[in-house]
Amino acid sequence: MSKRFSIGGVTVRRGETLDVRLKISETYTGEDVSIPVRIIRAKQTGPSVFVSAAIHGDEIVGTGIVHDLLSGEPAELRSGTLVLIPVVNVFGFENHDRYLPDRRDLNRSFPGSISGSLTNRIAHKFMSEIVHQCNFGIDLHAASQSRTNFPNVRGDLSRPEVRRLAKAFGCELVVNGKGPEGSLRYEACKAGCPTIILEAGEPLKVEAAMLEIGVRGVCNVLRELGMLPGELERPPFQYLVNKTTWVRAEVGGLLKFHTNPGEVVREGQALASNFGILGDRQNIIRSPVDGIILGMTTLPAVKPGEPIVHIAIPGAGIETLEAAVDGLSPDDLHGRVRSDLATNTATHEDPDHVRVQD
Ligand SMILES: [Zn+2]
Repeated sequence: MSKRFSIGGVTVRRGETLDVRLKISETYTGEDVSIPVRIIRAKQTGPSVFVSAAIHGDEIVGTGIVHDLLSGEPAELRSGTLVLIPVVNVFGFENHDRYLPDRRDLNRSFPGSISGSLTNRIAHKFMSEIVHQCNFGIDLHAASQSRTNFPNVRGDLSRPEVRRLAKAFGCELVVNGKGPEGSLRYEACKAGCPTIILEAGEPLKVEAAMLEIGVRGVCNVLRELGMLPGELERPPFQYLVNKTTWVRAEVGGLLKFHTNPGEVVREGQALASNFGILGDRQNIIRSPVDGIILGMTTLPAVKPGEPIVHIAIPGAGIETLEAAVDGLSPDDLHGRVRSDLATNTATHEDPDHVRVQD
C-alpha cells in the first residue's frame, strides 16, 4: 500500500490513470519490445492488485477480459491501485503461440533472473516491476492447445488470503493447488503477493460467457478488497476441489463425446466412445468417479494415453451438486457457460443406443 507506485521508471500518483510501455526485450533489429500496462490509482489508499493475461501467448481470453475491464467498472475504483496487463508474453501473442521464441514456457520461468535466458529476463522484469509492488494478483489463463476448460479458479488454499480471493472470484469450482514451481502464482505467493489464476475456455478464442465470468470475477475480488463499491455477485453454488483426475484413451481412434464441460457425471457413466477409423467401436470410456467435468479435449483423434476428460472430484455430496446443476436456467450466466463450451465438444447419442459391431 505504498504511496509511490512506479513502473518502467514512470511514477503514477494517487488519483492518476496512466498507460505505460514496460520494456521487456528487443527484436533482432534492436527495436524495443514492451508490455502494455494500464495503472489506475484511486485517490484513497488501498491494496495494489495486478491482473495479467496471455502469459501463455495463445490464451487470449484473458486479454479479452482485461479489455472489458479497461472500458468498464474499474473506472469507479474507490481505493488502491489496479494494474491491468492485457498481454504479458508479447512474443507469443504475436505468433499465436504459448511459448517464447526460445521455446521456453514463461509460466515455468518465474522468478527469472537478470542475466539468464530471454524468457528468464522477461520473468525477472515482470516480477521486479509489477509483482513486487502489488499486494495481490489475478492471472488469467485458458486451457492449453486442443483442450477446453470449464471456468475455474485455482490457488493455494492453505494460504488464507489466496483462499479469500479464490472464493470471492465467484466460480462454481475452486481448485486447490500451489501450481508448478516457476509458475507466476507459485512464485508470486512465495514473494508475498497472494495470487490466483482463472482457467476458462479454449486457447485462441474469446468466448462470450468466459468474458462475463472473468469480468465479474475480477470485479468481485476488487469488491472483496474494498476497492470497488457494491456487493459480490455470487455463483449459485461453489465447491472447493482438492482432487481431480484425467481419464485417458486406452486405444487409438476417433472419439464421440457423450458429455460436456460443467456436466455432473457418475461413476461408470459413458464419457466418450472410441471408434476405429473404419467406424467399428473399440470401447466406451467411462467415468471412474462421481464428479464434474472440469476440462476436455476438443480434438477427437486420440492415441493411447492421451487425455480425454479432466474430472473434478468435489469433497461434498454429488447429489447436491447434481441437483444444483440441474436447477440452472439456460439463460443464466452459469447455464450459458455450459452451452457456449458445448459447441466445442459436440455430444452424441447415449452409447447404449449405438449399434455395437461385435
Ligand atoms: Zn496458461
